[in-house]
Amino acid sequence: MFSSNINMQSVVSKFHIDHMMRYSLFVPRLYNLCLSLGFEAGKITPSRAFCSDENQGFPIILIAKHFGAFPFNHGRVGGIVATDRHGPHADHGEDMVIIQASHVGYDPETETFGSYCRLQTTGHDKTITCGKIGGILQWYLDEYRFAQKNIYLGREEGVHTITIDNHILNNKRAEGLFLELDKLVAKQNGDFQLLKSLSTSRVYAASKELCQHLPEKAWNGSAIGDQLGPEMFTFHRMVSEDIEGYDHLENNLINAMPWIITSESPLLIAAQVSTQAEFDRAYRTIVKEPEYVGKRLLFISCLNIDISPREGQVFPLTKCIPWAAYVQDSDGKARTIEQDEIVEMLNQQSTENPDQINLEAAIQQMIDADEIKIKI
Ligand SMILES: [Zn+2]
Repeated sequence: MFSSNINMQSVVSKFHIDHMMRYSLFVPRLYNLCLSLGFEAGKITPSRAFCSDENQGFPIILIAKHFGAFPFNHGRVGGIVATDRHGPHADHGEDMVIIQASHVGYDPETETFGSYCRLQTTGHDKTITCGKIGGILQWYLDEYRFAQKNIYLGREEGVHTITIDNHILNNKRAEGLFLELDKLVAKQNGDFQLLKSLSTSRVYAASKELCQHLPEKAWNGSAIGDQLGPEMFTFHRMVSEDIEGYDHLENNLINAMPWIITSESPLLIAAQVSTQAEFDRAYRTIVKEPEYVGKRLLFISCLNIDISPREGQVFPLTKCIPWAAYVQDSDGKARTIEQDEIVEMLNQQSTENPDQINLEAAIQQMIDADEIKIKI
């Protein structure tokens, strides 16, 4: 196995995608879980940190229906938690629920992740979803494709060779895809074993590690293509490190990017990694938030899968994959709950919720209520 310096592979593979449930079952289960933890009906202020995409509206409506209150908005585009809103959220109720989710579209016709049908466009266009994540991934995918096409594997006089384009070898670049040359190229007297320099590339002797890792048939003079695995390169990019700034989502993804872009469904894996990063980060801000002290609180991070609506359907058939949760009691007792356990806890809850409100009736009640004249 090709060794990896960073432990990103284990982070990515730890997430069980098969732990999904329909959103219409997830929300009543979550509400009942809150009651089982001592939360009081009628005193809970739910909050959501979702992407701004309109397809996140159906989950929001279900949260309003089952918790009997419209959820506070804790979210920035891409499902980033706006941690400076903890204080205002805490002021609005006794018991606190925060649901964070990154999201990815799913097309049931092609059975692929990453696109979502927009019924409001004339041609029912399928667009990249999450669009924010898709926009970020494009640059990395372009860099990767260039490297796939401009690194060659061959054999010369019995030596396995790796020919690398000079652009990829240029270490003075401020950003780009950078190869883990120590793993790929053989060394001689401490230097990389250069066999010859060509006009736009260099031919090196391949490392023993690479020769063992790739099949013999790969050394046929053609481009490396899909054999360029995530352990063989990293990315450098000039991104702002501002927390919750414009590049926050990109910072969540950059270390895992080799695994994201070489996966079968980059948008799915990227949304998953961002969910994992946001839970880890936001949890630390919640435990430090003075306004949450003395309150019951449940924070859960999930990945929302937006299944494109078919003609005649108003909403997506959203599914939810819970990732992790943090629970605290009013007396300060608190703990984090890992994926298997939170899914098990939710599955033990009833999907019946006698406290849920009838949204149509609630809207009608407001329409029928006597008008209150605003004094100016
Ligand atoms: Zn989005």
